[in-house]
Amino acid sequence: MTLKRRRTSHKPSAVHDQQTLYGLCGSPGIVVGKVVVVHHHPEKTRRYTLQTDELPAEVERFQAAVTRAEKELLELKNQFSKGFAEALSILDSHIQMVQDAMIIEGTITLIEQDGLNAEWALSHILGDIRAKFDRIQDVYIKDRFADIEYVVSLIFGQLAGQQQDLLSATDKPVIVVSDDFSPEDTLRMQANNVLGFLTEKGGLTSHTSIVARSLGLPAVVGLDKITSKCTTGETVILDGFSGRVYLSPTRDQQKQFSEYRRQHRVFSDELAGYIHLASETLDGLRIRLSANIEVLHEMQAVQKYGAEGIGLFRSEFDYFQQAEPPDEHSLCAGYSKLLAGLAPDPVTIRTLDVGGDKFAARIRNSDLSLEYERNPALGLRSIRFSLKEPELLMTQLRAMLRASVHGRLRLLLPMISSFNELRQVKHLLQEVMAGLERANIPFDPDVEIGIMIEVPSAVVMADTLAAEVDFFSIGTNDLIQYSLAIDRGNESVAHMYEPLHPAVLRMISQTVSAGHAQGIEVAICGEMAGDVVTAPVLLGLGVDELSMRPSAIPHVKRLLRHSCSRQLAELGVLALKCADGVEVRNLLTRYLPTYYPEEFGDQCRNVNS
Ligand code: PEP
Ligand code: MG
Repeated sequence: MTLKRRRTSHKPSAVHDQQTLYGLCGSPGIVVGKVVVVHHHPEKTRRYTLQTDELPAEVERFQAAVTRAEKELLELKNQFSKGFAEALSILDSHIQMVQDAMIIEGTITLIEQDGLNAEWALSHILGDIRAKFDRIQDVYIKDRFADIEYVVSLIFGQLAGQQQDLLSATDKPVIVVSDDFSPEDTLRMQANNVLGFLTEKGGLTSHTSIVARSLGLPAVVGLDKITSKCTTGETVILDGFSGRVYLSPTRDQQKQFSEYRRQHRVFSDELAGYIHLASETLDGLRIRLSANIEVLHEMQAVQKYGAEGIGLFRSEFDYFQQAEPPDEHSLCAGYSKLLAGLAPDPVTIRTLDVGGDKFAARIRNSDLSLEYERNPALGLRSIRFSLKEPELLMTQLRAMLRASVHGRLRLLLPMISSFNELRQVKHLLQEVMAGLERANIPFDPDVEIGIMIEVPSAVVMADTLAAEVDFFSIGTNDLIQYSLAIDRGNESVAHMYEPLHPAVLRMISQTVSAGHAQGIEVAICGEMAGDVVTAPVLLGLGVDELSMRPSAIPHVKRLLRHSCSRQLAELGVLALKCADGVEVRNLLTRYLPTYYPEEFGDQCRNVNS
């Protein structure tokens, strides 16, 4: 069952189902636009029709693909020396074939007369040719069909290749579609006129989704076979709030979604009124609402949405914006800017957290020692990787410490699973501090050190670990993954990824108790901190800080300001007693409308999902 929030209930009702695809809400927002399918497989081509005024451009697109396929063959031919006569003659025949009238003119006629997209027209022509060859008895001639298929595949490749280029350099805003995108693709998209994206793979807390949310790029992920269900040039509505995608919507549907988008804008304007208010409950309990960011330029968003500092700076993106890892100087410059810009608020910088679904391919291709792993989530991830590359870690620690004089630094260590790891990092930190002292470089010797609680062993050992650090930050994205044994990026098990599973809630509660017993603060920086349905439960479990994407802060703050600490605590106690996530959601279905009628009011209902 799902708990529906009031604000998402203006859903247009007249959208018909044949054209509606259901995925996961990768990143909120609604966009309407033409799609570009990347890594498109010709054999999965989908038919769609174009408007008359769109046909010349489609023919041009097809002809450009043919020209590029021919160029590809000519370049290949130039690479062969004269000695390969047979290969050269095959290439020559392919070069002739690529301009074959039956293929080219047949395809163009289908585009122009029937208003079909190029991929479909081409595959239709290929089907006709195949039927003709099937009737031929001569085995030699029959076999020539393989050459035609090959040449046509080159044209398909070029049609897809044009789409690849569109990802990096599109002048018209588009929605990009692929089986998967990496977090870095997502960063590139933002700079490249991309309206949003759709993927087959991915989950709610896969890093690609997190980055998309952070950049405000609408996305729907986990869409079964989306690359074969839509085709480049087709118009779609991407609804990142509900995880739905509408293929080839009617003008009426588009109008309805514009209205829906307008209502969201009105709601956002209303929330803006909360930005400068204190983040406290009705009875005065202060909760720090801080920001999760990935790149430096998001600092503006931190200020814009009224975050009280940064609860999580995912420093890994600095490492993969260019070919070489950044040096101490450039890291220090970036960190200093963050610290000075947000002082006196704290800035929590996490040491490099790579591996798993984050930049693993990039590291494997670099000089660093990350081999292909069969089980990357349980492999050389995060702090394990940093400890294997101590020079890399020490450079980062040195940059952080040097920046610490510019504001309030909190240094955060990811995925600590044993006391020994913490001890090793502390040892390296002391070495770095001693080096800075020797070189007379100023730094804050009392910099706060915290660890992320992301694996069950850290929860179990939280009392021991708490005595050694200044704060805890619970990474629920990973804690859920590791405690429920659900790959956070795997769409096949995404339905089992339950943040409100009582096992997860008990772990959070245990961590909070262990931290408070040692007098240290406990924050949550996983995605559930920024969700208005789950946030009340976290507050009820006694956390001191919620860190989330900056744009989520006003909404959570509004909720907080309508809360009463005693009621939240009662909710926490009741949630811990539940048998499973369904029970917790049932509990919330009763609780939320009662205490937040404005927010969840009469629209709150149970729905089977
Ligand atoms: C988490 O695991 O909850 C977290 C915040 O870290 P990341 O999402 O970067 O793994
Ligand atoms: Mg994590």
